[in-house]
Amino acid sequence: MHEYPLIPLKNSVVFPRTRVNVTLTRPRLIRAVQDIFKGAKTFVAVAQRNSDVDDPQPEDLYAVGTLVEILQVSPQSDGTLLVNMEGQRRVQIQEWLQTEPYAKVVATRMTDVSSNGREVEALVRHAHELFERYRPLSHRFGVEEADHVKSLQVPSRLADVLAAQIINDVRRQQELLETTDPEQRLEKVCVILGNEIEILELDLRIRQRVRDQVDKNQQDYYLKEQIRAIQRELGNDAAGELQEMRDRVAALGMPPAIQVKTQKEIDKLERLPSNSPEIGIIRTYIDWMMALPWQERTEDHLDIIAAEKLLDEEHFGMDKVKDRVLDFLAVRQLRSARALRRAPDPDRAQAEVNREANRGPMLCLIGPPGVGKTSLGASIARAMGRKFVRISLGGVHDEAEIRGHRRTYIGALPGRIIQAMKVAGVRNPVFLLDEIDKVVSDYRGDPAAALLEVLDPEQNNTFTDHYLEAPFDLSEVFFICTGNNRFSIPRPLADRMEIVEIPGYTLAEKTSIGRRHLWPRVLKEHGLEPEQVTLTDKALQMIITAYTREAGVRSLERALAGICRKVARQVVVRPDLHKRVTPRQVEEYLGIPRYNEEQALESDQVGVATGLAWTENGGTLLRVEVAVLPGHGSVRLTGQQGDVMQESAHTAISYIRSRTDMLNIPSGFADQYDLHIHLPEGAIPKDGPSAGITIASAMISALTMRPVRSDTAMTGEITLRGNVLAIGGLKEKVLAAHHAGIRRIILPLENKKDILDIPEAIRH
Ligand code: ADP
Repeated sequence: MHEYPLIPLKNSVVFPRTRVNVTLTRPRLIRAVQDIFKGAKTFVAVAQRNSDVDDPQPEDLYAVGTLVEILQVSPQSDGTLLVNMEGQRRVQIQEWLQTEPYAKVVATRMTDVSSNGREVEALVRHAHELFERYRPLSHRFGVEEADHVKSLQVPSRLADVLAAQIINDVRRQQELLETTDPEQRLEKVCVILGNEIEILELDLRIRQRVRDQVDKNQQDYYLKEQIRAIQRELGNDAAGELQEMRDRVAALGMPPAIQVKTQKEIDKLERLPSNSPEIGIIRTYIDWMMALPWQERTEDHLDIIAAEKLLDEEHFGMDKVKDRVLDFLAVRQLRSARALRRAPDPDRAQAEVNREANRGPMLCLIGPPGVGKTSLGASIARAMGRKFVRISLGGVHDEAEIRGHRRTYIGALPGRIIQAMKVAGVRNPVFLLDEIDKVVSDYRGDPAAALLEVLDPEQNNTFTDHYLEAPFDLSEVFFICTGNNRFSIPRPLADRMEIVEIPGYTLAEKTSIGRRHLWPRVLKEHGLEPEQVTLTDKALQMIITAYTREAGVRSLERALAGICRKVARQVVVRPDLHKRVTPRQVEEYLGIPRYNEEQALESDQVGVATGLAWTENGGTLLRVEVAVLPGHGSVRLTGQQGDVMQESAHTAISYIRSRTDMLNIPSGFADQYDLHIHLPEGAIPKDGPSAGITIASAMISALTMRPVRSDTAMTGEITLRGNVLAIGGLKEKVLAAHHAGIRRIILPLENKKDILDIPEAIRH
């Protein structure tokens, strides 16, 4: 038992036979150590339980410490003292003698329990093995130090050295200092060492992984740089190309947000390695963005007089239609003028003008095929001095056809609207939407709704295509729609339209169109001069009546082309030939006539009446045959007809049964006879209520055995009370009747107002 001075250490535990440097900062302790150094040079070093305490009391210190010898003290320039000391042995503090000016205690030496045997030997070996693994991981030990550790065979020494060198945590070091059984101590050290190794190995693995990635990135970067260098050498300088792209995008006048988006895509392109499959996709996208007309527009020439002249030159007749179109253009012209007056900035004026002019209803041309709707649209574009594009909506049932596919789809493209805008190359083309009555809505979405967004001037300045993912302004586009049947146009679309009907042409009109427009054009297309071939009036009429049956003039144009081909063959052989095409040549060139001119029945017949039907191709005759057979009052209908037609037949029968007296029909006919109603030429689907009066007439004729006049056609919906209601498509029906040689037509009285629509010659 001895008396020693005591120095508390904040963050160190000193182990026997190990040297440490400790820096003292507390002046009181510095003075104490300097005193001790002058005298006995030894003191008890004890760790503080809590390093934050500056003036520790006995209870703030551990009870086990180390007797140390001071080897050297070196005052530092900052007033601290560096003390180099060496541990001697473990001591246990027994009693405190004083605390001022420094602590003095009575302490007893602690002796290690001796340990020997195989187990200890194995433990020492294990500790050495662990150390071998630990050393390269920690990088803490130089060769000499390592050799020193390796040379230690005594467990207590080995444990102390390892504890001093490897463990950083004061509390753990203290625990080891207090463990006097060397075997136990070494075991504890081994456990700590094992943990430490695991942590270091994990750490190493993580570092390795990170480094691998960094290396890979660096390698990629390096390779990419090389590829660029090679490409520069080869003359295809991608960087230059990208820069060019950037410049072009900047000059396109895109809206700022879209420009940023496009530039970002170019950045992406730059970052991708040159073999990435994504490059093609991004490039296509950028190409699309660059190809769209963000700024370009044509200037309208809104001159009604000139427009009228041009429309007249390019289209025969259609007076009412042209009138409507010109009215429409006149209103546009006024709206434009007003917008132009009000727009302050001349740059924006044009856009405003276009937009303002579009606020009126949209033009929609309705009529059978081949009556010139599309070509009229093109003429309107020419008259206004605008570009012309058209898309056909026939059979479109997928919204994506209008709006495009998202870019995540393979092979995705913008929708048809955007595609057409690219073709147009300007923001303000005349845009013809053909067959708007043929869009179908099904599970693939509602194209009509998408179209509404396209056509609505309130929304279409931000039309968003799924592919572009950016709004495109359609508000300057002049949309024109066409269709065959106004009633099949989706309702919300129809509400926005100004519908102009173009009914079919009469024989005389077709003759004029053929003569003035089609024939010269077809000649030119076939490289023929007017001097080389003449088409007689009779031949033209024959082509129209015997080779075509249509409301428009498409087949006529085709037939004329057919003739020109034949003539061209002869002219090639004999350039000086002058060919006169007469009905005989027509038959020679086009084959036997396809249609009989006369469709009206030769004689009046019982049970056969002639009605008139409206189809999308124009008007047509509708023959109804009725046979009365012995039976029990059943009614059969054959020939292609729809539900409405069936209803008309039943209504007609009920009417007849309720009027047997007046009609001179035996009242009990329904008990003795069956009625068979047949509509020949069943290939053309017919439906609609307007056959009612014809069916009734044929029935009455069959039941009363009185023939129906064969030179007479009729049309109208019959009611149970025997009234006949108005019908639509009057002009087409009358033309068809006239065409077939029928000269008497019975019409519902309510249709009287429509008679004026019928061309004068035919009305007569
Ligand atoms: P739609 O769009 O109504 O089906 P098109 O516009 O395709 O018809 O017309 C078919 C052809 O008939 C075109 O070559 C067109 O020039 C011609 N055509 C139609 N009507 C007339 C007309 N009134 N005057 C001159 N050509 C016409």
